[in-house]
Amino acid sequence: METRATRGSIVFAGSFNEELISTMNQPVRCVHSLFDAIGELATCNTSDLVEAVIVDDELLLDTCTEHLDALRRVDPTAIIIVAGSGSRADQADGSITKDSTAERLSAAIVSAKSKPTEHDDAIYEIDLDEVLGISDGAKIVKDSSHLGVIDLVRALIHAPASFKDVLVDLLKQQTGWTFCAIIDDRSSAPESSLVASLRYGHEEHGLLAATGATKSELTRLSRWAACWLDLAHRQRKLKLLAYKDDLSGAWNRRFLRTCFARELQIARDARRPLTIMIFDIDDFKHYNDCWGHDAGDDIIREIVRLLRTIIRRGDHVCRIGGDEFAVLFCDPEPPREPGSNHPTTVEILAKRFQEQVAKARFPKLGDEATGVLSISGGLATFPWDSSDLDELLKKADQRLLQSKRDGKNSINIGRNE
Ligand code: GH3
Ligand code: MG
Repeated sequence: METRATRGSIVFAGSFNEELISTMNQPVRCVHSLFDAIGELATCNTSDLVEAVIVDDELLLDTCTEHLDALRRVDPTAIIIVAGSGSRADQADGSITKDSTAERLSAAIVSAKSKPTEHDDAIYEIDLDEVLGISDGAKIVKDSSHLGVIDLVRALIHAPASFKDVLVDLLKQQTGWTFCAIIDDRSSAPESSLVASLRYGHEEHGLLAATGATKSELTRLSRWAACWLDLAHRQRKLKLLAYKDDLSGAWNRRFLRTCFARELQIARDARRPLTIMIFDIDDFKHYNDCWGHDAGDDIIREIVRLLRTIIRRGDHVCRIGGDEFAVLFCDPEPPREPGSNHPTTVEILAKRFQEQVAKARFPKLGDEATGVLSISGGLATFPWDSSDLDELLKKADQRLLQSKRDGKNSINIGRNE
């Protein structure tokens, strides 16, 4: 197969050493401010795409999140790497030190691209237990003066978010310590306290700080507590594995059904509409065949990333099949656009997403394929289309199929039925 250009330019924002810039083996643009970097992203054309923006962390100061968000909004597909001490790295896609080499920078970009969308997960972090209907604080004992292991188990099952509090209360009761807390770093422990690591195997679960404890007692009980914390951590990891799609980081079909049932009940009670959009990538087999399975995987990840720049907190993105996705628009906030009502604004969001996909850049497809990807979708809204979950899914799916029959690259909202 013919080899295609798979990479674009690198934009360096801030001051970098000359050697790093001159040894990069792809086109480089240097700008002095973040505003110029945003300008580079906004004005580049399809034959000269920006693959990554390398930001000098001295430009980020206190408004780091806003600045990185601004870059992401202009081009959600560009990788953002922070160069500096590393303290801002968790908000970017990757980090390098200021004295890094071109080789290390390229490796950081490749690694950021292959990562599932962890950054987006953090932005759209939801209380999974709440969505799954696990959270039931009423089932755990509050303010009991006789907490026991059974209460830890109950907290794990019914209220995982309060597990650490129950564990700390139990330790206090059983030891008589005047202070006890699980903390992240030693500086937050009171001077009078002793501190022990909460480590289980290779896993660190923070530090246990206690006032009134002897060293040997603290060591023994920190091991015991670490074991419980590890169990809680593993349980959360397993839950995420069961409800998430590994490749894209989106939720999976199992999550969709559980979450949809809950949101439908909430919508019924609050007399509020709820819309589901199902869409499928057009001619996806063709992209796999021409550019390989890895390029196909990249498209799936980018589609999820793009979607997340468009939806709002409260909406859910799910991958429910190979190239099939669902978005549950259940944002309980006020209307998305002033003066508009729910279905209209969801339609606007769906259309905006369709346009973004059409403009999206997929570096692995090379320049020739930029702007050729399209999706077909269908929308169904409670209560107008149905009040039954399966019916709503069926309606959205039928409209998707109609979009395919009508020649693809469209989202059918059911208006002409
Ligand atoms: P249509 O326009 O009718 O949707 O045609 P299509 O080519 O997109 O075909 P269809 O949706 O029926 O097929 C989806 C393809 O997605 C089939 C399979 O090769 C591919 N696929 C499924 N899962 C994955 C995956 O995880 N990674 C990649 N790269 N491809 C996948
Ligand atoms: Mg398809």
